[in-house]
Amino acid sequence: MAVRGAPAVADRDLWAKYPFLPGAESLIADYSPSLGELIAGPAYARARELGRIRVRAAADDPTGTAALTELDRADPDERFLSFMYARLLLSVASTTAPGRRWSVAEARRAAERLDEVTERLPMEFTAVARLLGFPVEPSTGGYRLTLADYLRLSAGLREPEFRLVHQRLARGEVEVSAGRAARLLQEGIRVRLSTSLPADLAPEVRNRLQAAELDFLRDLAQRVPMPMQRRGVMVLRAEYFPPCIRKMRRMLEKGENLAHSGRFALAAFLHRSGADFDTIVDAYRGAPDFDESISRYQVEHITQRDGGRGYEPPTCETLRSQGLCFREGDPAAPNAVDRARDALCFEPVLVRPTLYYRLRGGAAVERPAAEAAAGGAAPGPTPSRSGGPG
Ligand code: SF4
Repeated sequence: MAVRGAPAVADRDLWAKYPFLPGAESLIADYSPSLGELIAGPAYARARELGRIRVRAAADDPTGTAALTELDRADPDERFLSFMYARLLLSVASTTAPGRRWSVAEARRAAERLDEVTERLPMEFTAVARLLGFPVEPSTGGYRLTLADYLRLSAGLREPEFRLVHQRLARGEVEVSAGRAARLLQEGIRVRLSTSLPADLAPEVRNRLQAAELDFLRDLAQRVPMPMQRRGVMVLRAEYFPPCIRKMRRMLEKGENLAHSGRFALAAFLHRSGADFDTIVDAYRGAPDFDESISRYQVEHITQRDGGRGYEPPTCETLRSQGLCFREGDPAAPNAVDRARDALCFEPVLVRPTLYYRLRGGAAVERPAAEAAAGGAAPGPTPSRSGGPG
């Protein structure tokens, strides 16, 4: 695929490998075909197909560990343009969840390449870091970066080894191993990608793309599973969930990242409220980094403690200290009930979200065994598919 006025091969290779870099964006503006050509031009059919492959692979495997041989075999221009096309597709998707998965998967793939070059091609690694806005310097133990950059990059990481107390600090800089430096940049790439979506598209481009990719976008919506209410013996009354739990569920449904403390609180709450194992796992399916086996392991760990009683859900005070109490109402909530301030949350007697649920009359409803076995409709209030009030 010929691209007019292309810069030096080395730069083009770098941008094809790391198409999220600011330099690559300028290449898009100067040398890429028009959006109309990319969306419909026969010369770009292969780039479009590779773009769809990128998005589909991320939807199916947000960990980004599956091999993408077609992409690996493509030439640098095709890889670069397929990245552009993937961004366009995600910008017209019906929800943000596929875009968040794609950000995780693409960042993971990029980090694998970065991990390889940390020692073999340190110049490439430092160039990528600098262009991302997080300059690093090779050091005897790996790489050095400023404390401020370290804190920015590690803020979203849940791995304990990235806590500041475990790092080597000297003169305002943090020294990390080559592997950790690659992991930190992976997080920087993920944030950069997720905040770059959706792309600002003109209405006519958006309409044209949606029409051209109707089948693909429908398929994509089905590939990113959302939380669902399982037909279990117990039926939850999600309309009686407290504001904090409703907000946490909505965040996951929208594919937003929920802090580890929030994920724990949600699983412990659902378990104590009568949700079955699979219903709890389902609540996490919208998470950008959802992994079936890891989620099952973690939910099992939380729910099997004390002979199945499970961990005690956190108190309101703990949730408040973690920034997870939403009793003032959620201005972004889709309905007036959620947006409103909830008086019960201000009662001194209320110490836990589980108590809120009980006081609102939300004790789990047991379905007749025969009906549960037959998979029929649940008695009493039937939760929405998402389980949330909206
Ligand atoms: S007061 Fe308690 S139940 Fe209400 S939103 Fe805050 S943490 Fe949740």
